[in-house]
Amino acid sequence: MPTSDDIRLDTLAVHGGERRPGPEGSMVFPIYQGTVFSVEPGTGYHDIRYIRLNSTPSQVYLHDKLAALESAEAALATASGMAALTTVLHTVLKAGDHLLASDCLYGGTHDFLTQHAENLGWTYTFVDPQRPESWAAARTPSTKVFLVETIANPLVRVAKLRDVVAFARQEGLTTVVDNTFASPVNFRPLSIGFDIVFESATKYLNGHNDLVAGVVAGSAELIERVRHTANLYGGSLDPHAGFLLARGLKTLAVRVRAQNHNAMALAEFLAGHPKIAEVNYPGLAGHPDHGHAAQLLSGFGGMLSLRPAGGLDAAEALIEALRIPYVAPSLGGVESLITRPAATSHAGMSAEDRERIGVTDELIRISTGIEDVADLIADFEQALQKV
Ligand code: PLP
Repeated sequence: MPTSDDIRLDTLAVHGGERRPGPEGSMVFPIYQGTVFSVEPGTGYHDIRYIRLNSTPSQVYLHDKLAALESAEAALATASGMAALTTVLHTVLKAGDHLLASDCLYGGTHDFLTQHAENLGWTYTFVDPQRPESWAAARTPSTKVFLVETIANPLVRVAKLRDVVAFARQEGLTTVVDNTFASPVNFRPLSIGFDIVFESATKYLNGHNDLVAGVVAGSAELIERVRHTANLYGGSLDPHAGFLLARGLKTLAVRVRAQNHNAMALAEFLAGHPKIAEVNYPGLAGHPDHGHAAQLLSGFGGMLSLRPAGGLDAAEALIEALRIPYVAPSLGGVESLITRPAATSHAGMSAEDRERIGVTDELIRISTGIEDVADLIADFEQALQKV
């Protein structure tokens, strides 16, 4: 089995974690759907081979594959991206602890903190991940964790991740990063010193919009602690979904590169269109984070957002006239998706709060798929004529 030290990512996606020879000589690792396996008498609770304990053969195989892709000592699959986040936080925080969290988090993460942290005895302060000079003032003697996202929804802002690691090291904090939008193809946070990376594997990792899963990766010691938390909270991934995820992972590198390419070409086309007032994509030289994004990332990702010049009516007309993208709020799959965050992912926020973070009513978010980019551009061209 090749390891991440000497093999490039495209090869790891196909061969990382694979058993050679596989059971019965199988090239495809089978689905061991059994709930429980026979073990030696006296085996400890967390080492019994039982699906909830994340220790059955299909699960261990998937963990090895994920660890190879994340360049991590160890990884754990979870039942969703939210299960990954909550399991990590329950592992690294205890009652009385405080965390610094990015002020532009995925809606579910934001709601988890604002609606549940208090019940758990955690306090938090939202900080601007672009302004390192503001972080020291937010730190308290109880701060234990710094939580950020690589690329944040929906303005595709790229956090100052090297500064996060440097600050956290100086202050003795554990760093946790949600790398969902980048995927390990565009960025591997552990390589610049993050302690824990997690992703919603529902998105790019699986890439086919047909399962919900999460991944956590880091040092063997941290992941063992995370696994023990997961075993008790119970958000484990079923082996059947794990099989689909492992299959999706094999094409991760080619899919994400195609999405990077398509998003860049679409962003450039839209940025030059008279009916588009603004395009947000970190690959464009005019994006506020283009400079440090270009240094950090191997690719700028498949996500972009835009504001049509004609406001909300134009946004609705554009979405209506497009033929290729599905109107749906998720991301990262092979099909292009389009959504208006004010009506979907950010609908729970007040209009003033949305305005403050730039999620105006006419903002449109696009998750670029792997279609031929000439067809995507032609589709936007015909749709914009109707706006
Ligand atoms: N993190 C980010 C950045 C997301 O976009 C999402 C889902 O959209 C999640 C986490 C949660 O993932 P899941 O839906 O798999 O629980």
